[in-house]
Amino acid sequence: MALVSYCMWISLGLFAFYTGQLTIPREMLYVILGGIALSNLYFYVMIRSGLNRRLGDPAMTLPQLIIATGWAMVLMFSAPQARGALMMVYVITILFGIFHLTRRGFFAMTALSLGGYMLIVGTDYVLSPEHFVMNRELLNVMVLSASLIWCASFGNYVAQLKSTLRQNNIELREAVSSASRMATRDHLTQSFNRRYMMASLSREKARADRTGSTFSLSILDLDHFKDLNDAHGHLVGDRVLTAFAYLARQELRATDVIDLDSEGRCFGRFGGEEFICLLPSTDEDGGHRCAERLREATADANFEGKLKITLSAGVAEYRAGESVADTLRRADDALYFAKQTGRNRVECASTLDGPRPPTETDDDKIVHGHFRHSLSS
Ligand code: GH3
Ligand code: MG
Ligand code: MG
Repeated sequence: MALVSYCMWISLGLFAFYTGQLTIPREMLYVILGGIALSNLYFYVMIRSGLNRRLGDPAMTLPQLIIATGWAMVLMFSAPQARGALMMVYVITILFGIFHLTRRGFFAMTALSLGGYMLIVGTDYVLSPEHFVMNRELLNVMVLSASLIWCASFGNYVAQLKSTLRQNNIELREAVSSASRMATRDHLTQSFNRRYMMASLSREKARADRTGSTFSLSILDLDHFKDLNDAHGHLVGDRVLTAFAYLARQELRATDVIDLDSEGRCFGRFGGEEFICLLPSTDEDGGHRCAERLREATADANFEGKLKITLSAGVAEYRAGESVADTLRRADDALYFAKQTGRNRVECASTLDGPRPPTETDDDKIVHGHFRHSLSS
């Protein structure tokens, strides 16, 4: 913008010079043009070299405006007849600062422009009072003052608008990030919620289908959690669930089986006291090791200072072509088997391939049914 503006004003200056309205010696014209080129070169080099980024205002608005105003003053001084037309340069120069100048900057620029103009007019008066037309100069100063004050107020208004907009943007960004957090987290344990985990599973399946990689998942279910609730109350149960989720996330972060990101993205609460752990690029063995580690850490920990809990887990590795629901169902079958065979255990879906051991009890049917129900809902 600065370069285009300068080109425009230089062309007009040359026109004024060759039509005899800029009454300066040719050498002085060259000095002015050279000076303009040099000052622009300075800003160009600053911007191109990136040095401007070290400044508080990388656009270097105020220095650019001050220098442009200086050149406008030189031109006005040299071409008294064209002074009225050249006043436009002042106005355009101030408009140039609209997006960057602060309120103080605007008023400083207004004062500089007006002061500069009066200095030129005053010098004229001292040097050649016989050519001085007081009323004309007075009108010029008044028009210039009105225009500059208008520009400064307008610029100030735009600057305020900009700062409100920036504040609104910050608030909006915070609101969006908190909404997206709420949409993906479970409110009790702050782990990822079922919706997020289902989306992650679908994404992982798509990736596995596309790249031929694999993934495994574990469903973790706390053992006899109803008894804990009955014995200690629901609130204690809630706190234990939260502490367990925290422990699991810490444990998963430390595991060497999977490459978890800092958020522990692969762990979430599926519902009630059931959790799910998604292990990208991990086979069933890796999934088993990981779930076993979680099981051990849970059994070793003391919750609420003294409470002991255990978990059972079912692990399944994705089989190319099957649906996410199929993988979940196979993991659920393995979990069911772990419950049947004593709890506080991790079972793999592959061990259930072939004939199933007939160990079902009525109690287990309820557990099994509960997860199936939550799967289909
Ligand atoms: P098991 O899984 O070992 O067969 O026994 P369980 O008692 O854990 O199984 P079940 O599925 O029958 O019961 C789950 C219990 O978990 C029921 C409910 O009291 C408790 N539960 C579910 N969600 C919450 C919750 O958000 N907070 C609390 N405090 N308890 C919950
Ligand atoms: Mg359960
Ligand atoms: Mg349970």
